[in-house]
Amino acid sequence: MFKYCPACASEKISFEEGKVFRCPGCGFVYYHNIACATGCLISVPSPDGEKLLFTVRGNEPGKGLLDMPGGFVDAGEGVLEGLCRELKEELGWMPPVRPGAILADVFKLYASFPNIYSYKGIDYNTCDLFFSVSAPGLKPEDLQLEKDEITEVRFLKPEEINLDLFAFESIKRALKVYLAKGTA
Ligand SMILES: [Zn+2]
Repeated sequence: MFKYCPACASEKISFEEGKVFRCPGCGFVYYHNIACATGCLISVPSPDGEKLLFTVRGNEPGKGLLDMPGGFVDAGEGVLEGLCRELKEELGWMPPVRPGAILADVFKLYASFPNIYSYKGIDYNTCDLFFSVSAPGLKPEDLQLEKDEITEVRFLKPEEINLDLFAFESIKRALKVYLAKGTA
């Protein structure tokens, strides 16, 4: 990521253990830590079993491939706070939180896997947390999509899911865990 030391411009800067830049000249140290990201599986109960909501990515990486709502947790946010912000941004939707309940009562953590998110020549190592939420009665017309990021949503039955059509390895692994258990 750094070809020269950002502090003294030395070419001798090294990248060690997949995470730390060190400059032997001036002592500059920078830890390129992992980023935290979320994915949310929205499950809509229906008479013939559940349907799961997926988004179609409008941008690289993975343009045109399937994804889950969610994204990077921003500085200053908690994980579920970041997830709720992403749901509102991407779908214009949030699951109801009854009075007195907390977000952890609504979202269930079912898997976590690492991912590499390659964006404009930089690889971001992420720790992805995957949550599920039940959304009885949710319909496509209840959603207001963030059209710059998402071209459409698809409601798929578990048996209709083709993992080859998903953008990221962590999502494929999480879906395998979820589908092996049946329902959330
Ligand atoms: Zn330096």
